[in-house]
Amino acid sequence: MINYTKYLNDNGFVIYLFHGVIQNNPYKVRNYNLKHINADYFTKFIQKASQEGNPVSMPEIVAASTGKFEMPEKAFAVTFDDGFANNYSIAAPILRSFNVPATFYITTDFIVSNAMSWIDMIEYAVENTDKRHFNLAGTNNLIEIGSKKQKIDLLEEIRQIVKNDHKIDPIEFASNFCSSLGISDFNPDPSLDLKMTWEQVFELHNDPLFTIGGHTHTHRNMAFLDLKELREEISVSLELLKENLKCKIEHYSYPEGLSNCYSDNVIDELKKQGIICCPTAELGTNSKNDDLFRLKRIPVV
Ligand SMILES: [Zn+2]
Repeated sequence: MINYTKYLNDNGFVIYLFHGVIQNNPYKVRNYNLKHINADYFTKFIQKASQEGNPVSMPEIVAASTGKFEMPEKAFAVTFDDGFANNYSIAAPILRSFNVPATFYITTDFIVSNAMSWIDMIEYAVENTDKRHFNLAGTNNLIEIGSKKQKIDLLEEIRQIVKNDHKIDPIEFASNFCSSLGISDFNPDPSLDLKMTWEQVFELHNDPLFTIGGHTHTHRNMAFLDLKELREEISVSLELLKENLKCKIEHYSYPEGLSNCYSDNVIDELKKQGIICCPTAELGTNSKNDDLFRLKRIPVV
């Protein structure tokens, strides 16, 4: 195991970032980047972090910034992005057994329509296609995907291109890409694709150990949106959460979360809509007086 507890320190706090926890992964290509980690590994991580550090919640991190909570030494918070069903079925029971709080940032359209993200659609198609090479729609480039390495290299390249080009609509790109590979039907995998139901999100929300936050409605890069689209992504997600949880939401995280995924405009709009804290996915630790909209996290893989 990578030594993630080395980041724990006496002058600040660490926010760990997860997406999913699964029992096993039978695939060659899917989940190659360990977006979903193994349940035993997650249990060992939580056990080690609780022994060496002190768990805090995201609301406690906010309270500490105004002196209403005294941050313990070697403090750490656990966060999950997106809203996968395995957060509810596998991660939450493990967190409860160690009494470790966590915040779950939910992409509301994933809950409403049990939708797959664009990159999960692409991974699914690359895993399941019979083709060994193909032409990407609209180009003459012949792309080889006969080997596992070629498939993973292609997925890495696609991640780089789509995440950095605001002119590409990721969902449109994914559906064109999947049809180039002859994949139009998706048979989602329960452990990798299933999202939580509203009942499950509500149950987590009602557990005092857990906090629910927003993560946009459709998981678009917030910094790529114009003001109208940005307002709508935030307001639709917050209204759906409020309606289903009977509670106003104050926590949020940026989809993808890297430096090109948020901006002063994004932060202003989140504040206007009542958000008080929004961590990034940029790598690093935090100190008590850091900006609550620029907090860094450590992804655990
Ligand atoms: Zn996300």
